[in-house]
Parts: sequence; C-alpha cells; structure tokens
Amino acid sequence: MNTLHASPLPLFSIDDHILTGDNITFRLSPNTSGRFQSGSPDTIVIHFTAGSSLSSSVNVLTNADSGVSAHFAVGRNGDIVQMLPTNKIAWHAGESYYEGRSGLNQYSIGIELDNAGQLKARGDGTFESWFGEIFGENEVLAAQHINQQSMGYWHKYTDVQIVRTLSLCKALCSHYNISTIVGHEEIAPSRKVDPGPAFPLQRLKAAVLQSDSERWATESSDSNS
Ligand SMILES: [Zn+2]
Repeated sequence: MNTLHASPLPLFSIDDHILTGDNITFRLSPNTSGRFQSGSPDTIVIHFTAGSSLSSSVNVLTNADSGVSAHFAVGRNGDIVQMLPTNKIAWHAGESYYEGRSGLNQYSIGIELDNAGQLKARGDGTFESWFGEIFGENEVLAAQHINQQSMGYWHKYTDVQIVRTLSLCKALCSHYNISTIVGHEEIAPSRKVDPGPAFPLQRLKAAVLQSDSERWATESSDSNS
C-alpha cells in the first residue's frame, strides 16, 4: 500500500450537515427516523456493501422499499455519495450492541464501502461473490475473520477508497463529537462480517481518533485480527 502516503489526504468539510469536497454527490434517501437526539452522532459504523457497484448499492440505499440507508457510500474509485444529512438517523446497523448501548442507528453515522464482501474459492485460483462476479487472486485477501472459525476469502478495497474513507472520518470527527469508530462486525458479531479483514479498521481508528497520521503513513500492513 505504498500509494497511501504518495498523495496528501483529500480535505473535506461539513457545512450544514452536508459533506463538501471533490467528487462528492448527494442523493437523498427517504429511509430515516428523523433527527438525532442532542449529543449524537458520537459513533461511526463502517460497512461493506456486498454489492456489485457503487450505483447499484446507492440505488438500494435510497429505495423506499429497501428498509436500509446509510449516510455515505464510498466507491472503488473514491467517489462519495451522501444519502442523508449527518443530523438525520439512517438505517444501517440493525439489531446491534456496543459498550452498553443497543440500536446503534440512534447514535451513529453509517459509511458503506463498495466491496463484494466474502468470496468463495472456485478451486481454479479464482473467487466468486454471492452475486456471481469472478475475481482473480490479486483482488482477494485470504484471512480468518475474528467472528469466524476458519479461513475466508475477502474482496480487497482500493487504496483511494481507504484514503477517502479516512478523510471522511476525519471531517466527521472534527465537526461532531465522535468518540468511537466501529465495524458492523463489532456491533452485530453474530450476524455480520463487514467490513472484514481486508479493511484496515484498527489503523483507521488509530489514525482518526488518536490523530495518529504518522502511523498511518509509515505502516505497510494492518494488524486487524
Ligand atoms: Zn453492514
């Protein structure tokens, strides 16, 4: 991941609960429970879409019949789509529990990353997503998930996608009183495996919550397990 420190982090800001910066678009989702109570959001929840493209996932997350939404989706080319202003409650966490609180939607910003999710080995060196897309081994990480008992195969994220997600989290933390960044897999461990071992979640937490960008820039691999 040498490209991570080759270019400066993009700078985003939040103006009236809307993200501004390069390559950001807004498409409103009807799927909200209204405004956060005061003191929230104080948490960010990171997800993968387990979908085939940014646009197909945004279609689901903005469809009134889907029953799901998120504040942001980050594409594999780094494009960001905001779907709810960050003062509104989105429907991304589902039944969830973390550090004494349940129902994390009430407290959190949801960020979805375009990623095919957990893959199946086909036995010929290639891997298949649940929706039938085939990936070569250079796009796949073999690793055991903290919530699983055996080795799994995971679609890799792109460097630009990770860096833009880092910048998005930094912007959210400088605007709101965010104290916690978690993966969906940490708040619903019996149901969920996203964002999974291919995402550098522990590095992101350190870089954003401890302003530890030195560490982000110099480390070449994540210790996620
Ligand atoms: Zn999720």
